Amino acid sequence: MKRFEGLRRSPWLVLVLVVAGLATAAAVAVAGLQPANLAYTPNSEGQVTNIDVARAWIKNYYGASGAATGASGGWSTDLNLDSNYAKEACSVANEGTNWLEARSKVKNRAIVLDVDDTTLTTWNYELFSNWDYNPSTNAVFVGLTGTTFTGNMFPATPCMLDMVKAAKNMGYEVFWITGRGDSQHNATIANLVSDTAAGFPEITDVTYSGATVPEIDAGYPMPTAIDTGHGGFTDGLFTKPSVGSYPAYLDKPEFCAAAIATSKSCGTIAYKSGTRAYIESEGYDIVADFGDQFSDLEGGYADKTFKMPNPNYYLP
Ligand SMILES: [Mg+2]
Repeated sequence: MKRFEGLRRSPWLVLVLVVAGLATAAAVAVAGLQPANLAYTPNSEGQVTNIDVARAWIKNYYGASGAATGASGGWSTDLNLDSNYAKEACSVANEGTNWLEARSKVKNRAIVLDVDDTTLTTWNYELFSNWDYNPSTNAVFVGLTGTTFTGNMFPATPCMLDMVKAAKNMGYEVFWITGRGDSQHNATIANLVSDTAAGFPEITDVTYSGATVPEIDAGYPMPTAIDTGHGGFTDGLFTKPSVGSYPAYLDKPEFCAAAIATSKSCGTIAYKSGTRAYIESEGYDIVADFGDQFSDLEGGYADKTFKMPNPNYYLP
């Protein structure tokens, strides 16, 4: 998974970001959410939230007060749908539905969705990892052990399933754009839609780290078929291409041309906005873009953006 490129490889920095995020959230509670200022330097202890306190508050927010973290902790407990997190996610989803209902009469209208913590909630992995991302253990939750599909572990984000189904019923086309890499493409469709939609055998249970949990097919509708221009994927889910495999539509100065010219990974805002531009160039009008990170939402090519709640990590 590429979603944690760079930043999440450094555990202490992640924790600093959690604290900075909370401090910023507190600072903008009245003014509204906005991207965090990562250069902010507290002058005193009182200007940041203690990391252990932040963890406790986030557990309370997810309705998992006192949940144990770590591989033998409470990660296998179902997501609490009565939590303040669930209520806030539902509030955004319902705002989205209202926005789409008011604009449902024109053809070729589309919505764009992020995956992690927008349409699938990764809270169980935060508990498992104690907010310390590791690509190998994360891949197990995504559904892969090595290259073998072993079953999905992320539930649908509260109320987002209803929102997407409603959008589909209103005639909207549905596309996903994720920072997960092409190597996780099929496992991602398997979690969002179903194992069989991704071409895998149906799996009913997942056993991992001493716990057996139901394998999750979130039940989203299949996205709208479109040629992603890489990896042979045409199912409407845009996973991130590997360096060296970027499609021509991203090779523009305003998107990924500089990264492509230097064989580097393209940044999230450029990759995602460039992909939205491509979708619009194929004849769709993106009426709404849903994401939990500001980097999912910046860069244009959407009439309105919807910020899903996520206090667990910050991806520029
Ligand atoms: Mg996300």
